[in-house]
Amino acid sequence: MDYSALKDWHQSHKEPALFGRYINHSAITPLIKNLPDDFRVEHLGKSVKKRSIEAVSWGNGLTKVLAWSQMHGNESTTTKALFDLFNWLDQNKEDEVVKQLQNGLTLKVVPMLNPDGAEVYTRSNANQIDLNRDAQDRSQPESRILHTLYSKFKPDLCLNLHGQRTIFGVGDPAKSATVSFLSPSQDELRTVTQSRKKGMAVIARLAQMLEEFIPGQIGRYDDGFNLNCVGDTLQQLNIPTILFEAGHFHEDYDREKTRAFMFLSLLGVLESVALQDWEENINYKPYFSIPENKKCFYDVIFRNLNHPNKGHFDLAIQYEEQLRNSRIQFVPKIAQVSDLKDFFGHKEYDCKGAQVAFSSDFELKEGVILEELQVKGALSTTFSLKS
Ligand SMILES: [Zn+2]
Repeated sequence: MDYSALKDWHQSHKEPALFGRYINHSAITPLIKNLPDDFRVEHLGKSVKKRSIEAVSWGNGLTKVLAWSQMHGNESTTTKALFDLFNWLDQNKEDEVVKQLQNGLTLKVVPMLNPDGAEVYTRSNANQIDLNRDAQDRSQPESRILHTLYSKFKPDLCLNLHGQRTIFGVGDPAKSATVSFLSPSQDELRTVTQSRKKGMAVIARLAQMLEEFIPGQIGRYDDGFNLNCVGDTLQQLNIPTILFEAGHFHEDYDREKTRAFMFLSLLGVLESVALQDWEENINYKPYFSIPENKKCFYDVIFRNLNHPNKGHFDLAIQYEEQLRNSRIQFVPKIAQVSDLKDFFGHKEYDCKGAQVAFSSDFELKEGVILEELQVKGALSTTFSLKS
């Protein structure tokens, strides 16, 4: 496939009804309802708050791929990319490559596994349970729905679609981890099993493809084993599973650019599966040369500040995502006040030793939420923080 052309297509054809970070059940319901005939919709069950959970199937081939998104309600980028994929499959259905995919595989997708979390923009479900730590207990209806689904469908490959915070970087010096992947472990020893190798082979292909668009911004997630996670559970059943993590790209807080990379990655998986090259035992090795994710970024770093009482320091700001009036606000919060030479800021300001003064009631310490953050330019009173 020509991924540059696909990226151009995405720019002008992505699903217009979905935008930004806040994607709830009401946003996707009309889209599911209006899907063309090639897409089959199944009602799987209901969430804690009785929102319906659907699966969308496409294709008639032997190889079965199962994907679910928004298991964490506030991780919506991959949900947007899934609807973009549906649009692409429909608009190009006369193309030979799409017909090949349609005959080669059956794709089953749960666009929103945790609609209650999506509604209030939380990671957990309505009972404050993290569904990605509930794979063994299955204490929640959403976990049971997913379990029933994969037990019946018997997928050859699973895609566990997530989003990650802006704190992750890759490489040295670090760049933002825009997209990260993992082929989860299936035992404590993190044995590189046949099932893991299949996932690794697909990821290696995706990383190579993405390198053209976001060089040095593709990361590999830590493979510590935790059977409460869905990926590890599936892998232990010898079902190859790939964790997708949609991350941060430059100033794209709406995650619209990362959405395109997720769209390309989803197509990359389908191509890889249709070509059957993921079955090859050798193609997994480049997976290990993908750099590991590390927590080394803040949203903003002010370097070289001085305070009459506190002396010299750097100041890190991390945005807290808050749902207000159906939009996500990025509220600045003090994350660290210290020497931050080992950290990077998505935005950085060198204050060159400027003295800062704060109003008497302002506390310069971690966890303080700022209602406003104004950066006024170069030196002296470089910025003002209004609490
Ligand atoms: Zn997640």
